[in-house]
Amino acid sequence: MSVRSVLYLDNNASTPLATPVLEAMVKCARCQHANPASPHQLGRKARHVVERVREEILADLGGMLSGTTPDRLIFTSGATEANNLAVRGMGRKGPVILSSVEHPSVERVGQFLIQEGTEVRWLSVNSDGLISLDQLEFFLRQGASLVSVIWANHETGVCQSMAKIGDLCRQYNIPLHTDATQIIAKKKIDLREIAVDALTFSSHKFHGPKGIGCLFVRGNVPLDPLVYGGFQQAGIRPGTESPVLVEGLWAAWKWAQGQREQAVPPLAAMRDCLENRLLAAFPHIVFHGCRVERSPQTSCFSLEGLDRQVLLMALDQKGIACSTGAACESGAAQRSATLGAMGCETSLLEAAIRLSVGYLNTPDEIDDAADRIINCINNLQRPSSLVSTAIPARREGSKMVD
Ligand code: PMP
Repeated sequence: MSVRSVLYLDNNASTPLATPVLEAMVKCARCQHANPASPHQLGRKARHVVERVREEILADLGGMLSGTTPDRLIFTSGATEANNLAVRGMGRKGPVILSSVEHPSVERVGQFLIQEGTEVRWLSVNSDGLISLDQLEFFLRQGASLVSVIWANHETGVCQSMAKIGDLCRQYNIPLHTDATQIIAKKKIDLREIAVDALTFSSHKFHGPKGIGCLFVRGNVPLDPLVYGGFQQAGIRPGTESPVLVEGLWAAWKWAQGQREQAVPPLAAMRDCLENRLLAAFPHIVFHGCRVERSPQTSCFSLEGLDRQVLLMALDQKGIACSTGAACESGAAQRSATLGAMGCETSLLEAAIRLSVGYLNTPDEIDDAADRIINCINNLQRPSSLVSTAIPARREGSKMVD
């Protein structure tokens, strides 16, 4: 099957580079070869690229650019590093409050902190995937150094009420970090209106280059570095910044934020169309988290009796690129931690598949994708094909973690 006939429904894992992004990066690569830390004029030009983008994004997010403690935007290698920096850098003095539906780049830091002797309290979620504000308040009353709650879940798309969570944390004067990787380009985020103290995102989730992400941190919030080296980024994240990646991130930011207002409703419409087509064909299908607000691009479904690995491979053969979740952890033995935390039954956990549409998908593609998925599931549900297509190994499958 040619690459062009593959329908890409795995945008939560990564997105294709937008053309203006590629052009901006090539242009930058041609002239910005100097080290932004070098004091000569070429170095200063490279530094100008990095600092201009830092200020533009900070301003777009509603950050404070001046004053005694201006807000900070720290460039990292992606959301994994930004999450590690936030949770370790802000939470070492413990206790730390984390939701039970975090991406592994937060959840595993929680495990690491526990091993170091830091107390971690886990917020449970209900069957819709939402944390309880009462439980959060109960934990806050006991004191903590940090709260971290993912804004839009990578597996189900379920969005937490970040405004309410922020207000509650402010009331108790405890800093709040959120992983906004799956929502940043789909929703206008104004940090003057929302009491979030630190926020993570990653460029390759909104049509920018892989290898660069950001951590926004309020100026008055203490943050320890993860790595030590030079003075770059105030020593919080030393190492040579890449003007080309920074320029690519900025081009993607402008492009995706520019698309947002017009493109989000069609994005949600494409996701809903896929779900409606599947529901019409399979009335018993379960869409996880669909009763509450979700990121507009994400659908996670289970059809009891299907095996997610078998379905994923069959869909791949039909030219559907989607996911049991798992670019970050393919091959791992666990089932979806998010669905598990939502109390999902084992038979549905075993069957869960995530479809994530993107700004570059078209309604025609979605129609075509629905036909292929329905056809594929029908084939698998025929008793004879269940036997003939069963793939022996990998029952454990991969965990949903993109
Ligand atoms: N957080 C979330 C919610 C994600 O979806 C991802 C993507 N895998 C990450 C963090 C890690 O992002 P990155 O690939 O930039 O490290």
